[in-house]
Amino acid sequence: MTPPVHQARVLSTLNADGTRRWLRPKLAHGRFLTGRRIVGFALIVLFVLLPRIRIGGRPALLIDLITREINVFGLVFRPSDGVVLMLFGLTVVLVVFLVTALFGRVWCGWGCPQTVYLELVFRPIERWLEGTPSQAARLPRFHPRKLAKLAIYAAISFALSNVFLAYFVGTDRLEQWVFDSPLDHLGGFSVVVGVAALMMVDFAYFREQMCIVACPYGRLQSVLLDKQSLIVGYDEARGEPRTKAKKSLPVLEEPRGDCVDCSACVSVCPTGIDIRQGLQMECIGCAQCIDACDAVMDKLERRRGLIGYTSQDRLAGKRGRLLRARTVIYPALLALVVGLFVLSIGTKSAAEVFVQRATGPSFVMLPDGRVASQVLLKIENETDELKNYTITLAETPNATLRSPQPRWQVKARKASDVPLFVDSPPEAFVGGKRTAHLRIDDSEGFQKIVTVTLLGPERGQR
Ligand code: SF4
Ligand code: SF4
Repeated sequence: MTPPVHQARVLSTLNADGTRRWLRPKLAHGRFLTGRRIVGFALIVLFVLLPRIRIGGRPALLIDLITREINVFGLVFRPSDGVVLMLFGLTVVLVVFLVTALFGRVWCGWGCPQTVYLELVFRPIERWLEGTPSQAARLPRFHPRKLAKLAIYAAISFALSNVFLAYFVGTDRLEQWVFDSPLDHLGGFSVVVGVAALMMVDFAYFREQMCIVACPYGRLQSVLLDKQSLIVGYDEARGEPRTKAKKSLPVLEEPRGDCVDCSACVSVCPTGIDIRQGLQMECIGCAQCIDACDAVMDKLERRRGLIGYTSQDRLAGKRGRLLRARTVIYPALLALVVGLFVLSIGTKSAAEVFVQRATGPSFVMLPDGRVASQVLLKIENETDELKNYTITLAETPNATLRSPQPRWQVKARKASDVPLFVDSPPEAFVGGKRTAHLRIDDSEGFQKIVTVTLLGPERGQR
């Protein structure tokens, strides 16, 4: 029989007439739910504590938008560390590729903040206040329990949003902002309110659609997985043909599978799919259907594992293989990129020196007839100590360096502009240019020579 239009579906969360199919999944208790709770709550604690943990006096993780520095477990990256940051980004991408090839969507079901917060924080509050799915469906829209739920959601979203901001401004600055008037820090306050509002919309309304229609990682699964990757799958060979549990057919008369068509696996699925229809893009690998089906099998005194973690090949009766193209190529690339990353960190200089474009005239003629060419250096102190830098000329004949101060002090992890003049006779310039070599020392072993092009008068201008 063809279902009525309002019941037919194009997506698990969308009816054919475009209306939203609200999901109220039941909760299946079991070993995987216990495991996910342990992992999920550990991740929540880590998320809250990470900006507070200090390594070498610096936050364990801070993407400081104000000083434009990124702190990652004791390492400090600045905008000038483009190559190191690119290698770090490549490392993350390759780890995602490798983990997905091996373990499928384990991240989605066990570690993704969307799943962790929705399934372990927001949905349990909803179940606590609104009751079972059928009780919840009967509550009017503005029932006090529903309003209380939204109020708790708003409070949690606001608190999480503050933690989120701490990753970008640091806990010290955030604590100071919390006690000041919001008008004194309108930018930060707007971010907190904006992120909290987005969380509210996501966890109260958008929910599983984030995984089904919005998340790019979910969309990439078809290219990241192979037939050996870990998936949650239904053992069709064992489960079919389905037979209702109560209908006890004489064993020898008709073959029957272990699936009793109880729909327990469907009623607990947070994305609203039926895993018995095969691997689907909507499956986030949360293992709720495994826990539900294992409980049914336990009751029927049948073997567990009708639904389980498996692979497409294993479901087809083939052997599992660890060694395959993806599990060889990804680790090889990963080793190369991590090697380059470690090498670039290990050989990182104690300071970086850049020649910058100076403002104003690039040279002036002095009363004694010599040419004063302007040079602007930028020194970045990459250490955790204050440093004093001296700058001298190296192997540049017929030139004198003029520096407004004998030493340039640069604070730890800070940068400073150093304006200089190099005086030369006009004859030193060919085609209006000459080169000079500047040596930068910090008297503690750091030394760097930079070559600068000085501008001066063309022959006709002298
Ligand atoms: S929970 Fe298990 S027995 Fe029940 S419908 Fe799903 S697969 Fe079949
Ligand atoms: S099919 Fe199973 S593992 Fe996949 S999302 Fe639904 S309940 Fe989770």
